[in-house]
Amino acid sequence: MTRTDAVSPELAQAVFTRDRREVAAFLAVLAVPELRWKGDRLVAIQPHALYIGQLRANVVCPAVVIDWQHEWGNCWGRWRIEHVKTNARIGKRAEPDMDHLMAVCQGHSEDGMRGGAVWVTAHRPEERDYIARANEVVTSST
Ligand SMILES: [Zn+2]
Repeated sequence: MTRTDAVSPELAQAVFTRDRREVAAFLAVLAVPELRWKGDRLVAIQPHALYIGQLRANVVCPAVVIDWQHEWGNCWGRWRIEHVKTNARIGKRAEPDMDHLMAVCQGHSEDGMRGGAVWVTAHRPEERDYIARANEVVTSST
């Protein structure tokens, strides 16, 4: 088995679209109404100094939806696709489908390792819940 994840561009786009919608819905609750792609970064534009000491335009990703109190402000870089296995004890890589993929920014993936810890690999149960909820919305709205 190769390390190539076999995620087609169409599938990656579907994951990005779903997760952008989830981030947008979440930030709307926090009164951050505007999201923009800046190249391959998703950026929240804050209408005023809502968060003192933070940049007005923050990169955001689903990590903020999962744990915004700790992760707001920790996003940086471009969005990437992360594989989330159903069962951590199964050695094989997650199937490349909507149930096993989510987007995270570089800051929350391997590139953003802090103190030897990678956020995305340390929060698998929360990510599985997030993916299940996000896919439920898609199914019920079609
Ligand atoms: Zn992030």
